[in-house]
This record gives sequence, C-alpha cells and structure tokens, in this order.
Amino acid sequence: MNTKKKYIKTTIILIAALLLLSFGITSCSSEEEEFDLVQQSRFALGTYNQVTVYATEELANEVIDGIFDRVAEIENAMSLNVADSEINQLNEARGEAFVTVSEDTFKLLKRGKEVAEETDGAFNIGIGQLIALWDISGDDPQVPPEEEIDTLFGHFDLNQLELREDTLEARINDPMMTIDLGGIAKGYAVDEAIKVAKDYGIEHAIIDFGGDVYVLGGNPNGNEWRIGITNPIIGEGGVVARIFSSDMSIVSSGDYERYFIENDRRYHHILDPETGFPADNELNSVTIVSDTALDGDIYSTAIFVMGLDKGLAFIESLDSIEGALITKDNDVYVSSGLSERFEMMNESFHWVNE
Ligand code: ADP
Ligand code: MG
Repeated sequence: MNTKKKYIKTTIILIAALLLLSFGITSCSSEEEEFDLVQQSRFALGTYNQVTVYATEELANEVIDGIFDRVAEIENAMSLNVADSEINQLNEARGEAFVTVSEDTFKLLKRGKEVAEETDGAFNIGIGQLIALWDISGDDPQVPPEEEIDTLFGHFDLNQLELREDTLEARINDPMMTIDLGGIAKGYAVDEAIKVAKDYGIEHAIIDFGGDVYVLGGNPNGNEWRIGITNPIIGEGGVVARIFSSDMSIVSSGDYERYFIENDRRYHHILDPETGFPADNELNSVTIVSDTALDGDIYSTAIFVMGLDKGLAFIESLDSIEGALITKDNDVYVSSGLSERFEMMNESFHWVNE
C-alpha cells in the first residue's frame, strides 16, 4: 500500500485511518503546506506496521524503505518465528553455552532484566515457556492443564540470564527457562524507526506498529496530533479519549487485543507471571505516554498486570511516564502529568479522577 496525496487531503486520510487502526489519528487541517503525505503499511513483527512520513514522495519512499530494513534487522534478531534468530539460538543453548548477540538484542535483554526488578516481576521476559504453553497467538490456543503451568513456576528468574557486556554474550543458565521479547521488541522497533526518519531529516512522521505509536514533530498544519485511545470494549469500536501530542510515544495494552474463548471465558495475551494465567484485575486497558515507545511497550504491559491501584502509584512514582487506565466499569484514571493533554470523547466512560 503506497499512497501519495497533497497535504490538504490529510484530514480525510487520517480519519480513514481512525477506522482502520487500533489508534485513531485525526488532524485538524487549516493551512495548506508543501508536504506530501506518504503512507505505507507492511507486515512485520507479527502485526501491521504503518509509517506516515511528510516529505517529497521520493524522499519519503527512501525513508520508508530505510525504516523497514531496520525493522527487518530487529525482527531477524529477536523473533521466535525466525528459525535462526538470536533469541532462538539463545533459547536453544539454554543450560549450556553463551551465545553472541547483536547490540540491539543485548540492550533489550539487559533492559528486560532491569525492568523485571523494577516492576516486581510484573514484566518478565523470562516467561517464554509460559507464553509458549498458552500459545495465544498460535493456531490452536487452549487453556493448559494447571499441572503443566505449575511445573514452570520457579523458572522465571532472570538472575538465570547471564550477560557479558564487553563481549555481547548471553547465556540462560536454567534449562527450564526461555526468553520471549514479544512485549518489548515492537516498542524498540518504533523508536529505531523514528531514528531512521530523523537521520533523513524528516520533521513530521507517525509510526504506528500495531498500536505502538510515536508522533514525530507536530501536525504539519501547526497543531498537535490528537491520538485516540481505542475503546477496549470488544465490538464497540471508536475511541474513549484523545491525547494531544507531539514528539512523544503513546502505547496501549489491553485484554481486547489478542485472545481466545474457551467455555465462555475469554483468555487474553498478557500473562501474570505470578498466577501463570492472563492478568485478571479491574483493568481492561492501559495507555502509556512517554519519550520512548520502548518504555511505553514495557510499562503498558507491566501496569496491566499490576492492576489499578498499584499501576497508578507506579506511574506517579516515575517521572518518565504518564498514563491513562480504563477499568471494566468504564472508569478512566489519568495520571497527574497527563490531564492537561487529555480529552474525553465517549460518554459511556467517566474520567473519575479529573
Ligand atoms: P501487544 O503485542 O498487543 O502490544 P503487549 O505489548 O502488551 O501486547 O505485549 C504482549 C506480549 O508480551 C505477549 O504476546 C507476550 O509475548 C509477551 N508477554 C505477555 N505477558 C508478559 C509479561 N507479563 N511480561 C513480559 N512479556 C509478556
Ligand atoms: Mg505493546
């Protein structure tokens, strides 16, 4: 998909995007400027990745190719679906050998270890075996027998992931543990995509990799972007609220994104490492606003696992992130630093701590 339109048509395109994407992006176009809007969507990292660049068409296409080359590099290193990826090599060598990895992978392994401590285990890249057991993104997901889940407890300890920074080597010491970067790689890829765009001198762009969004610059019409938070109620569609943003990342995690149903119960893709089951608390959506999509990807998942009270307190304890939490009762909680850029858009939901 490759579209080229004069900038004046942005509004229409972006409103169309609102219907198609997990994030709705609208713009309020008033002045005409000499930009082309070039937009492409390609499948990678298990999802649709949309890139919107404002530049001449020639430059924009070059930028977009550069971005997807970079994404392919990240995917080839980190994906479990790429047979000889670094993460598959690391997992296969568990209990045995050190594996040399790229700087990208090393960075995320290191961050993964840190963030497991910081979130009290809510976000844990060492639950690969548990994720594989549930296979929620696979062809035939089903609730695993509890005995099988039980055998995995005690094998999510990231102290068993040994890293050697000087040589970029990693080893999993526990033969029962595997690494899954599924909750972290996409956010990293968004940040790297932005770096590519900036290297080409791009000033306005939107990266949306399966709902992990970064908006570079403001809307070329001089306003800020307005990024919608998807309505988490399955079947309703539309947005709950919108966030005025420029040069920032907006990432959501929720129980509505990927799931399967068994015996009338819905099982989603964010697992609580403590119970071995999908996180089950008051929340159905967490949106994180931050300087990097890596932070957004990590903390939206972590806070979804923590639940409302602990999650809100956690956001307030960090200067680097803001957020909005939506409960199954349609209550919306917005962190203190986000309220001025937050606007409700849906009367079925209530901003309770305004
Ligand atoms: P999405 O892919 O919809 O953005 P998330 O960013 O919330 O979803 O990440 C979910 C993915 O992260 C899962 O598919 C799984 O691979 C991994 N994951 C699930 N639970 C956890 C967890 N508690 N800690 C770390 N990674 C997780
Ligand atoms: Mg995510």
